[in-house]
Amino acid sequence: MSGANLETITALAKRRGFVYPTSEIYGGLASSYDYGPLGAELLRNVRNLWWRELIHKRQDMVGLDSQILLHPETWVASGHVASFTDPLVEDKVTHKRYRADHLIETWLAAHPGEADVVVEDLNISDMAAFLAEHGVCSPEGHEVTAPKAFNILFETAVGVVEGEKSKVYLRGETAQGIFTNFRQILDSSRVRLPFGVGQLGKSFRNEITTGQFVFRTLEFEQAEIEYFFDPEQSDWQELFQMWQDTMWQFVTGTLGISVENLRWRRHTDRERSHYSRETYDLDYQFPFGFKELWGIAYRTDYDLQAHIAHSGRRLEYVDPQTGRRVVPHVIEPALGINRVFLMLLCDAYWEDEANQRTVLRLKPSIAPYKTAVFPLLKNKPELVEKARTIFNHLLDHMTVTWDDRGNIGKRYYYQDEIGTPFCVTVDFDTLADDTVTVRDRDTAVQQRVAIDHLLTYLQERIII
Ligand code: ATP
Repeated sequence: MSGANLETITALAKRRGFVYPTSEIYGGLASSYDYGPLGAELLRNVRNLWWRELIHKRQDMVGLDSQILLHPETWVASGHVASFTDPLVEDKVTHKRYRADHLIETWLAAHPGEADVVVEDLNISDMAAFLAEHGVCSPEGHEVTAPKAFNILFETAVGVVEGEKSKVYLRGETAQGIFTNFRQILDSSRVRLPFGVGQLGKSFRNEITTGQFVFRTLEFEQAEIEYFFDPEQSDWQELFQMWQDTMWQFVTGTLGISVENLRWRRHTDRERSHYSRETYDLDYQFPFGFKELWGIAYRTDYDLQAHIAHSGRRLEYVDPQTGRRVVPHVIEPALGINRVFLMLLCDAYWEDEANQRTVLRLKPSIAPYKTAVFPLLKNKPELVEKARTIFNHLLDHMTVTWDDRGNIGKRYYYQDEIGTPFCVTVDFDTLADDTVTVRDRDTAVQQRVAIDHLLTYLQERIII
């Protein structure tokens, strides 16, 4: 785990324009955040890399962009209307609401060795029994009600006439839009099994618990894949392993996350959904412990069969060679983009005591700005003009930021905190010999580089 605690990361994120509390002028909204200028850039980089690595670079993947509002029957078929629930308890004095499993986790951490349970294995009545047996209280120290299943799907209404509105749901996951489009994707494209469909987009959950910054929010972004295959033609274990390897490579290679902060956690038989044959979570060690970043599940043909039953449509694949009809099985890797975002900040955060500075050591390909360009002095037109020319040239190739405020030391300090890997300074020597100073974020080493060579110099160091 990085040395930073969550308060430090939250403060940096706000101070430097990565993340703001939503609607702050009205006092904010629980578990909701906006992404500022730098946060928007960082999120965009994560999305683009995911799409590039997992869709564009693969011949067996296509993309999709389905709606947030789907036909409400979708959520009946998927099981979300009946059982997309969290175990809710209420503090009997303050009436604040909590998740029973989270209270039990906190209690277990505070009472090591006193109870031998796996929280993920507990159902609602197990939780009720545990809370009662151990006298588990709310964080305020009061008794709590017995847990009940609270549906976390958000409801809204379509229509303009009061009384004639019909209930719809904000999607609780992006995956269902993939299943409902399965037939149309088969009919309109040239995909052959095994193939996957990926999509990125907002999902909504009326989450009970708050307080872990952007880790768990009401509105969030998912990047989900349904990988369809014929279980008679492909070995699910091999495909599952292939996806686990792909996920690992993306997180450690593409995103550059430290291996020691990652672990695989296999769901126990009780924890796993009844239709799932295998589920693993790729967990990251956040400041509040190892938590799920990316889940992968072998869901069999459960979802397509459910949509066949509810829609009456034939959602089958016909093998072009043999004519065999099959309802494909799926493996689903489901990632949260905002959790990737938080992981990146936590993993990159570094207090460089030797140089008394805070640095976001983001991989250059992830950093919001790849380069900052400074004229040494802003009141010297010849320096400003030269720096502008370099800035405009680099802009054609990468994200670049301009800074001419304060002294150079302060500018470096600011760029370090937002993770800019290179700072280019135009000074009086530049006017004489067409070289600039390039300063490296991580080592703080400065090098003189010829302007002619600058783009190549930077590109060689920013490769993905
Ligand atoms: P958790 O157990 O943490 O609630 P989950 O198992 O319900 O997560 P999935 O339904 O598997 O999550 O969703 C896939 C991914 O979406 C998760 O791995 C996570 O990265 C992300 N995600 C889920 N819920 C939220 C949320 N409320 N806020 C931010 N990201 C989320």
